[in-house]
Amino acid sequence: MRLSILIFAISVLALAQVQEPGRLENMRGKTVMLFTPHPDDDTFCCAGTLYKLAKNGNQIHIVIYTNDDKGSYDPDMTSERLARIRMHEEEEACRILGIAKESILWLQYHDGMLEYANPRDLVEQVTGLIRKYRPDVVLSVDPGAESVRWHKTDHRMAANNTMDAIRAAEWHLYFPNQRLHDGLEPWRVPEEYYYYAGKDANYFVNIDDVAEIKLNAAAAHVSQFPPAVEKYRADWEPAALEKLKAELRQMGKKDGHYVEEFRRATGFNQE
Ligand SMILES: [Zn+2]
Repeated sequence: MRLSILIFAISVLALAQVQEPGRLENMRGKTVMLFTPHPDDDTFCCAGTLYKLAKNGNQIHIVIYTNDDKGSYDPDMTSERLARIRMHEEEEACRILGIAKESILWLQYHDGMLEYANPRDLVEQVTGLIRKYRPDVVLSVDPGAESVRWHKTDHRMAANNTMDAIRAAEWHLYFPNQRLHDGLEPWRVPEEYYYYAGKDANYFVNIDDVAEIKLNAAAAHVSQFPPAVEKYRADWEPAALEKLKAELRQMGKKDGHYVEEFRRATGFNQE
């Protein structure tokens, strides 16, 4: 009897170990694609995780749907200038995380206009990128959290489009021209981590050891916050920067630890 209990216990333990996936933040030598609606969501959702992934020698590709060229109250700002500012800020944030600007792909849709792009063209474009880079892991925005679903137009579209492209990339009959003309073979994305998942989050990466690096990367997005969002200036007022960092420190805490939250999924988002 005791032996059977022991065998049962060993079996349960072995099964648990087999089912336990390798931790995202400990991956090495893999290809990671992160899809972000705007050139700052990748920082706010995932900077700590990205820093760890870059440090571990993973190949990271940041795909940015829009150029974020609308979000300024400065009456003297233009869309063209704002897009350049946002690009520079994103490159600086990525540099802080150990990600070269050559690893950033800009799809260059206008801010707030992603839902008015041709949906078929958009999913074909992203399907082609997934087939080209063949990621072991995709990180993308989740459409589930209420603030994203109802208030963030580009987030809705980016979320659904990335998921649709993950599905299409797997089946050779979707966009067969990509294989025939460009030599892009189908690719099945093994693992996905969706950020901004709200109450659906089921995966938590502890970033206690790199939280301050995340704050520095967040601070690179100067034009997203007062005072620069009201009247553009390239630097921070020290008090405004400290206020931002204090707010971010509180937002990123869970059970006394700094964490980044994801909804982990495999296959067609069913598991
Ligand atoms: Zn955004």
